[in-house]
Amino acid sequence: MTSNDVEPDGGSTAMRVIAIDGPAGAGKSTVGREVARRLGLEYLDTGAMYRAVAFAALRRGVSVSDEQSVAELAREMRLSVSEHEVIVDDVDATTEIRGRAVTEAVSAVAANPAVRDELRGRQRAWAREHGGGVIEGRDIGTVVFPDADLKLYITASPRERAERRVREIGGDVADVEWSITERDRRDMNRLDGPLRADAGAVVVDTTGLTIGEVVDHIVAMLPAHTSDAL
Ligand code: C5P
Repeated sequence: MTSNDVEPDGGSTAMRVIAIDGPAGAGKSTVGREVARRLGLEYLDTGAMYRAVAFAALRRGVSVSDEQSVAELAREMRLSVSEHEVIVDDVDATTEIRGRAVTEAVSAVAANPAVRDELRGRQRAWAREHGGGVIEGRDIGTVVFPDADLKLYITASPRERAERRVREIGGDVADVEWSITERDRRDMNRLDGPLRADAGAVVVDTTGLTIGEVVDHIVAMLPAHTSDAL
Protein backbone atom coordinates (compact mmCIF):
# COMPACT_ATOMS: atom_id res chain seq x y z
CA MET A 1 0.00 0.00 0.00
CA THR A 2 2.08 2.85 -1.22
CA SER A 3 -0.12 4.62 -3.76
CA ASN A 4 -1.59 7.84 -2.51
CA ASP A 5 -3.51 8.76 -5.65
CA VAL A 6 -7.16 9.65 -5.28
CA GLU A 7 -9.24 9.84 -8.41
CA PRO A 8 -11.63 12.80 -8.61
CA ASP A 9 -14.69 10.57 -8.45
CA GLY A 10 -13.27 8.47 -5.60
CA GLY A 11 -12.93 5.32 -7.67
CA SER A 12 -14.21 3.29 -10.57
CA THR A 13 -17.83 2.37 -11.10
CA ALA A 14 -17.06 -1.34 -10.56
CA MET A 15 -16.13 -0.65 -6.94
CA ARG A 16 -18.48 -1.88 -4.20
CA VAL A 17 -17.87 -0.51 -0.72
CA ILE A 18 -19.56 -1.40 2.56
CA ALA A 19 -18.55 1.18 5.18
CA ILE A 20 -18.65 0.21 8.86
CA ASP A 21 -18.11 2.82 11.56
CA GLY A 22 -18.76 2.86 15.28
CA PRO A 23 -17.20 3.20 18.73
CA ALA A 24 -14.41 1.06 20.22
CA GLY A 25 -15.18 -2.57 20.98
CA ALA A 26 -18.61 -2.65 19.33
CA GLY A 27 -17.73 -5.79 17.34
CA LYS A 28 -17.07 -3.97 14.04
CA SER A 29 -14.06 -6.12 13.14
CA THR A 30 -15.65 -9.50 13.83
CA VAL A 31 -18.86 -8.48 12.07
CA GLY A 32 -16.98 -6.83 9.18
CA ARG A 33 -14.80 -9.89 8.54
CA GLU A 34 -17.79 -12.20 8.53
CA VAL A 35 -19.88 -9.94 6.27
CA ALA A 36 -16.90 -9.75 3.86
CA ARG A 37 -16.51 -13.53 3.90
CA ARG A 38 -20.19 -14.12 3.16
CA LEU A 39 -20.16 -11.62 0.29
CA GLY A 40 -16.79 -12.65 -1.14
CA LEU A 41 -15.34 -9.16 -0.59
CA GLU A 42 -11.98 -8.12 0.86
CA TYR A 43 -11.87 -6.59 4.34
CA LEU A 44 -9.84 -3.59 5.60
CA ASP A 45 -9.40 -2.62 9.26
CA THR A 46 -8.43 1.07 9.09
CA GLY A 47 -7.97 1.23 12.88
CA ALA A 48 -4.95 -1.05 12.38
CA MET A 49 -3.48 1.63 10.09
CA TYR A 50 -3.75 4.38 12.75
CA ARG A 51 -2.36 1.92 15.29
CA ALA A 52 0.54 1.19 12.90
CA VAL A 53 1.48 4.88 12.78
CA ALA A 54 1.41 5.04 16.60
CA PHE A 55 3.56 1.89 16.69
CA ALA A 56 6.10 3.41 14.30
CA ALA A 57 6.28 6.62 16.37
CA LEU A 58 6.80 4.75 19.65
CA ARG A 59 9.41 2.50 18.08
CA ARG A 60 11.42 5.42 16.75
CA GLY A 61 11.06 7.51 19.89
CA VAL A 62 9.00 10.19 18.09
CA SER A 63 6.56 11.96 20.41
CA VAL A 64 2.95 11.54 19.24
CA SER A 65 2.41 15.24 20.00
CA ASP A 66 5.08 16.18 17.43
CA GLU A 67 2.54 16.50 14.62
CA GLN A 68 5.01 17.23 11.84
CA SER A 69 7.35 14.34 12.58
CA VAL A 70 4.44 11.89 13.01
CA ALA A 71 2.94 13.05 9.70
CA GLU A 72 6.28 12.51 7.99
CA LEU A 73 6.49 9.03 9.48
CA ALA A 74 2.99 8.23 8.19
CA ARG A 75 3.90 9.40 4.69
CA GLU A 76 7.16 7.47 4.56
CA MET A 77 6.25 4.20 6.27
CA ARG A 78 5.85 1.00 4.34
CA LEU A 79 2.61 -0.48 5.61
CA SER A 80 0.92 -3.73 4.80
CA VAL A 81 -2.39 -4.55 6.47
CA SER A 82 -4.08 -7.88 5.83
CA GLU A 83 -6.63 -9.85 7.83
CA HIS A 84 -3.90 -11.77 9.61
CA GLU A 85 -0.95 -9.44 9.99
CA VAL A 86 0.21 -5.85 10.09
CA ILE A 87 3.75 -5.19 8.83
CA VAL A 88 5.36 -1.80 9.41
CA ASP A 89 8.67 -1.21 7.60
CA ASP A 90 9.34 -4.98 7.55
CA VAL A 91 8.61 -5.36 11.27
CA ASP A 92 5.70 -7.59 12.30
CA ALA A 93 3.51 -5.30 14.44
CA THR A 94 0.45 -7.59 14.54
CA THR A 95 0.48 -8.19 18.30
CA GLU A 96 2.04 -4.97 19.51
CA ILE A 97 -0.47 -2.66 17.83
CA ARG A 98 -3.17 -4.16 20.14
CA GLY A 99 -1.10 -3.53 23.29
CA ARG A 100 -1.60 -0.88 25.92
CA ALA A 101 1.13 1.53 24.78
CA VAL A 102 -0.21 1.78 21.22
CA THR A 103 -3.86 1.93 22.39
CA GLU A 104 -3.00 4.88 24.64
CA ALA A 105 -1.03 6.69 21.93
CA VAL A 106 -3.39 6.15 18.99
CA SER A 107 -5.95 8.92 19.71
CA ALA A 108 -3.27 11.63 19.43
CA VAL A 109 -2.06 10.16 16.14
CA ALA A 110 -5.64 9.94 14.82
CA ALA A 111 -6.31 13.60 15.66
CA ASN A 112 -3.44 14.67 13.37
CA PRO A 113 -5.04 15.92 10.09
CA ALA A 114 -1.91 15.23 8.00
CA VAL A 115 -1.87 11.61 9.21
CA ARG A 116 -5.59 11.27 8.40
CA ASP A 117 -5.03 12.72 4.96
CA GLU A 118 -2.24 10.23 4.22
CA LEU A 119 -4.12 7.19 5.54
CA ARG A 120 -7.34 8.13 3.73
CA GLY A 121 -5.35 8.25 0.48
CA ARG A 122 -3.99 4.76 1.19
CA GLN A 123 -7.48 3.48 2.07
CA ARG A 124 -8.92 4.76 -1.21
CA ALA A 125 -5.99 3.28 -3.13
CA TRP A 126 -6.55 -0.07 -1.37
CA ALA A 127 -10.23 -0.01 -2.36
CA ARG A 128 -9.40 0.74 -5.98
CA GLU A 129 -6.89 -2.10 -6.07
CA HIS A 130 -9.34 -4.58 -4.54
CA GLY A 131 -12.49 -3.52 -6.40
CA GLY A 132 -13.94 -2.20 -3.13
CA GLY A 133 -14.49 -4.17 0.05
CA VAL A 134 -15.82 -4.07 3.59
CA ILE A 135 -13.96 -1.16 5.18
CA GLU A 136 -14.15 -0.49 8.88
CA GLY A 137 -13.17 2.51 11.03
CA ARG A 138 -14.52 5.80 12.40
CA ASP A 139 -14.87 8.10 9.36
CA ILE A 140 -15.39 5.63 6.53
CA GLY A 141 -19.03 6.44 5.70
CA THR A 142 -18.76 10.12 6.65
CA VAL A 143 -15.50 11.10 4.91
CA VAL A 144 -13.52 8.36 3.16
CA PHE A 145 -16.32 6.74 1.14
CA PRO A 146 -19.34 9.07 1.27
CA ASP A 147 -20.78 7.18 -1.74
CA ALA A 148 -20.47 3.71 -0.17
CA ASP A 149 -23.10 1.20 -1.29
CA LEU A 150 -24.06 0.52 2.31
CA LYS A 151 -23.12 2.45 5.46
CA LEU A 152 -23.42 0.83 8.87
CA TYR A 153 -22.89 2.35 12.30
CA ILE A 154 -22.34 -0.51 14.71
CA THR A 155 -22.66 0.22 18.40
CA ALA A 156 -23.42 -1.39 21.78
CA SER A 157 -23.69 -0.16 25.36
CA PRO A 158 -20.31 0.78 26.92
CA ARG A 159 -20.76 -1.90 29.60
CA GLU A 160 -21.39 -4.64 27.07
CA ARG A 161 -18.46 -3.51 24.93
CA ALA A 162 -16.21 -3.63 27.99
CA GLU A 163 -17.49 -7.07 28.99
CA ARG A 164 -16.80 -8.44 25.50
CA ARG A 165 -13.29 -7.02 25.51
CA VAL A 166 -12.57 -8.52 28.93
CA ARG A 167 -13.77 -11.92 27.71
CA GLU A 168 -11.32 -11.63 24.78
CA ILE A 169 -8.22 -10.18 26.42
CA GLY A 170 -8.89 -10.12 30.18
CA GLY A 171 -8.74 -7.15 32.55
CA ASP A 172 -11.16 -5.39 34.83
CA VAL A 173 -14.58 -4.50 33.35
CA ALA A 174 -14.81 -1.07 35.04
CA ASP A 175 -11.26 -0.11 33.92
CA VAL A 176 -11.86 -1.27 30.36
CA GLU A 177 -15.22 0.53 30.24
CA TRP A 178 -13.52 3.73 31.36
CA SER A 179 -10.76 3.45 28.78
CA ILE A 180 -13.02 2.70 25.80
CA THR A 181 -15.41 5.49 26.82
CA GLU A 182 -12.45 7.87 27.04
CA ARG A 183 -11.16 6.80 23.60
CA ASP A 184 -14.68 7.31 22.15
CA ARG A 185 -14.84 10.77 23.70
CA ARG A 186 -11.56 11.73 21.98
CA ASP A 187 -12.68 10.17 18.68
CA MET A 188 -16.01 12.04 18.81
CA ASN A 189 -14.51 15.40 19.70
CA ARG A 190 -11.63 15.77 17.26
CA LEU A 191 -12.06 18.31 14.47
CA ASP A 192 -11.06 16.12 11.51
CA GLY A 193 -13.31 13.13 10.83
CA PRO A 194 -14.97 12.86 14.26
CA LEU A 195 -16.77 9.62 15.03
CA ARG A 196 -20.48 9.99 14.28
CA ALA A 197 -23.16 8.07 12.41
CA ASP A 198 -23.53 9.39 8.87
CA ALA A 199 -27.06 10.57 8.00
CA GLY A 200 -27.23 7.73 5.47
CA ALA A 201 -25.98 5.02 7.84
CA VAL A 202 -28.08 2.17 9.23
CA VAL A 203 -27.48 2.12 12.99
CA VAL A 204 -27.08 -1.43 14.34
CA ASP A 205 -27.15 -1.73 18.14
CA THR A 206 -25.58 -5.09 18.94
CA THR A 207 -26.30 -4.99 22.69
CA GLY A 208 -27.63 -8.42 23.68
CA LEU A 209 -27.09 -9.90 20.19
CA THR A 210 -24.62 -12.56 19.11
CA ILE A 211 -22.20 -11.94 16.23
CA GLY A 212 -24.16 -14.45 14.13
CA GLU A 213 -27.42 -12.56 14.71
CA VAL A 214 -25.81 -9.24 13.77
CA VAL A 215 -24.27 -10.64 10.58
CA ASP A 216 -27.58 -12.26 9.55
CA HIS A 217 -29.35 -8.94 10.13
CA ILE A 218 -26.83 -7.05 7.98
CA VAL A 219 -26.74 -9.58 5.15
CA ALA A 220 -30.56 -9.60 5.12
CA MET A 221 -30.67 -5.83 4.58
CA LEU A 222 -28.22 -5.88 1.66
CA PRO A 223 -30.57 -6.23 -1.31
CA ALA A 224 -32.56 -3.23 -0.15
CA HIS A 225 -29.52 -1.04 0.34
CA THR A 226 -27.02 -1.98 -2.32
CA SER A 227 -26.89 -2.09 -6.06
CA ASP A 228 -27.77 -5.30 -7.91
CA ALA A 229 -24.11 -6.05 -8.47
CA LEU A 230 -23.66 -7.21 -4.87
O1 C5P B 1 -10.69 0.35 15.47
P1 C5P B 1 -9.63 0.55 16.51
O2 C5P B 1 -10.19 0.63 17.89
O3 C5P B 1 -8.50 -0.41 16.39
O4 C5P B 1 -9.04 2.00 16.16
C1 C5P B 1 -8.01 2.57 16.91
C2 C5P B 1 -8.10 4.09 16.85
O5 C5P B 1 -7.79 4.52 15.54
C3 C5P B 1 -9.46 4.69 17.16
O6 C5P B 1 -9.68 4.87 18.54
C4 C5P B 1 -9.39 6.02 16.43
O7 C5P B 1 -8.72 6.99 17.20
C5 C5P B 1 -8.51 5.70 15.23
N1 C5P B 1 -9.27 5.52 13.99
C6 C5P B 1 -9.68 6.64 13.32
N2 C5P B 1 -10.29 6.55 12.10
C7 C5P B 1 -10.52 5.35 11.55
C8 C5P B 1 -10.13 4.16 12.25
C9 C5P B 1 -9.54 4.29 13.48
O8 C5P B 1 -9.49 7.76 13.81
N3 C5P B 1 -11.08 5.27 10.34
